[in-house]
Amino acid sequence: MLHVKNLSFSYKTQTILSNISFSAKPGEHLSIIGESGSGKSTLLKLLYGYYDLPHGEIHWKDTEILGPKFNLVIGYDFMKYVAQEFDLMPFTSVAENIGDFLSNFYPEEKQKRINELLQVVELEDFANTKVKTLSGGQKQRVAIARAIAKQPEILLLDEPFSHIDNFKKQSLRRNLFKYLKDNKITCIVATHDKDDVLSFSDQMMVLHHAKIMAQDTPQNLFKNPQNKLIASFFGEYNIIENYGVVYAHQLKLHKNGTLEAIVKQSYFKGTYYLIEADLNGKTVFFEHNDMLEKNTLVNLTINT
Ligand code: ADP
Ligand code: MG
Repeated sequence: MLHVKNLSFSYKTQTILSNISFSAKPGEHLSIIGESGSGKSTLLKLLYGYYDLPHGEIHWKDTEILGPKFNLVIGYDFMKYVAQEFDLMPFTSVAENIGDFLSNFYPEEKQKRINELLQVVELEDFANTKVKTLSGGQKQRVAIARAIAKQPEILLLDEPFSHIDNFKKQSLRRNLFKYLKDNKITCIVATHDKDDVLSFSDQMMVLHHAKIMAQDTPQNLFKNPQNKLIASFFGEYNIIENYGVVYAHQLKLHKNGTLEAIVKQSYFKGTYYLIEADLNGKTVFFEHNDMLEKNTLVNLTINT
């Protein structure tokens, strides 16, 4: 169990985190979301023992996580951390990077494990490629494979797919999170991408103004976003009088709809169009199957 109790932290005078408490069970996936600069990376670094804690406590099971003042070497064997800026050995191959922490005592086992890890991050074809020649996204995948090589109990991921292109991202994300679940590895992931969260996190936590603004399952926070910040994480939304937060997909064209709006712009989104319209002088967004001509008068209704 990860236990964080009353954690506060500042860089010099700027308070980054104030009185943060939460916990995560073994095997659980927790995501940390929040605007850029809200302290997500700082929180992960504190969980890893990268800084000394001025206030509060962090425990993983019976071990207290302590900073550099108490540890000659930062980090613990049961925990791995993949930073936003990953740290690899550029002049050796992908396979050597991934196998770096594995014992050489059983070479066959080691090779099997490297192959398994190459599969998880879909880098089988690059086993013998020198890391320095890889793209940013490929390096990020090597860093992830390195981090899980020795089966940590808890894995901290900072924006793990931010450098990875859309062609690869979807399958890699499914692969990795399934691997972690199957192996009961607790995972704390800082992200600004809802696709990292919705299908994969058991809980999500929203950081704002140094505090936990909300913490719940992705399902509950999606269905009932308490404010604009949370809604905006999930998608286009509107604030409509007497209703509050209404997602674009909840606002629909309906002949008896009581909200009368004038179409301003249609944006092609693949499976639908996002329509920008004017509702009593305010801009609203709704989803529609077809493009709508500018200045069309539409009646809208809210599906909750
Ligand atoms: P996030 O990951 O949510 O974008 P960070 O944890 O990186 O946020 O940063 C939180 C705040 O702390 C930002 O205002 C950032 O500028 C500041 N900050 C981050 N790292 C340092 C540091 N090493 N020294 C001083 N300030 C820092
Ligand atoms: Mg960050």
